[in-house]
Amino acid sequence: MRLAIFLALTLLTAATSVAADVGKDNDASALARKGTAAIEQRRFGDALDAFTRAMALEPEDASFCFGAGVAAFMLGQDDVAQSRFERALTLNPDYLEAAVWLGDLHYRAGRVSEAIAIYKMATRRDARRSDLEAQLATWSKEQELHDRFREVRTEHFSTFFESLSDEPLAQEAAERLEHAYSRVGATLGVYPSERVTVVLYTREQFSAITRLASWSAAAYDGRIRLPIAGTSQPREELDRILSHEFVHAVVATLAGRTAPAWLNEGLATVLEPAGSEDAEAPLAHARAQPDLSKRHQPFVDLSKGDAETAYASAARAVRRLIEQRGASAIVALLQDLGHGTPFASAFQHRIEMPYADFAALARN
Ligand SMILES: [Zn+2]
Repeated sequence: MRLAIFLALTLLTAATSVAADVGKDNDASALARKGTAAIEQRRFGDALDAFTRAMALEPEDASFCFGAGVAAFMLGQDDVAQSRFERALTLNPDYLEAAVWLGDLHYRAGRVSEAIAIYKMATRRDARRSDLEAQLATWSKEQELHDRFREVRTEHFSTFFESLSDEPLAQEAAERLEHAYSRVGATLGVYPSERVTVVLYTREQFSAITRLASWSAAAYDGRIRLPIAGTSQPREELDRILSHEFVHAVVATLAGRTAPAWLNEGLATVLEPAGSEDAEAPLAHARAQPDLSKRHQPFVDLSKGDAETAYASAARAVRRLIEQRGASAIVALLQDLGHGTPFASAFQHRIEMPYADFAALARN
């Protein structure tokens, strides 16, 4: 969600700490410069490799550990990322960005109390970051709320809800998710082995916790979050939303956090049970669309109207990919991304055409 901002902050930090090292100009700082450039260009495999080698040369440098942590986090290697951020903080307890990323990592894994503990430590050390205080307040409220939640457990999902009167809705959501698991699994040939957490909120709780635009129908940030508590959802709409968010969970298991938004959202939309024809309807009246390469960042900050056309053009692009190369090519592409291959190379390899050509074609 807020990765773009985090990334920008990080690069600034990494660039500064590397610049301070230029005088020495030993191999480790040259590697760290390579790693920073690789993160900027979203070549996370190269970045992890460069920072890991820099760490081996200078194990006491916290910024090398941090760079390795960022690259591993983006690749979805959360265990590696966690240990690198923790190491950076051991070496330099005042390393605020390492604390921010570690807290975010815990939060996305559903470990809210760990996330809170890390942020509390960070705010004690640096009182200037009022944004961290605001995030802490939101997380504390969320934790209080979750302490009251009940759980419906099915084979692949844990579905949490607050009010007893929502138990039938939670049961139904869980059953429909199991159905989506089989249906999407059969289409993609991918069956996530880790249990997926699903949380039912009221619209107010959802807005307070996710801080997403009011047009958001749901969210996935490591957990599927749904603003449907206390409502009765038409079956087709519930199926559509659950399937859409589950596909985001599948993309995360394959590609970590590396998939461009258009591919992630397009795949989730195309695999909705009702198909993507309706989803593409907004394009009939829309102006020419931006190049797909401008659609790599999450759609969360777009206006409702822009978001509609962004989802529609993403769906159309992914439908074309599936028609041309099959769903298995998209799965292979996502796996390549998760293994650290840069997007344009993975695209060329799996789709057998240059990404720039496809991105330009997809404009109309
Ligand atoms: Zn989505």
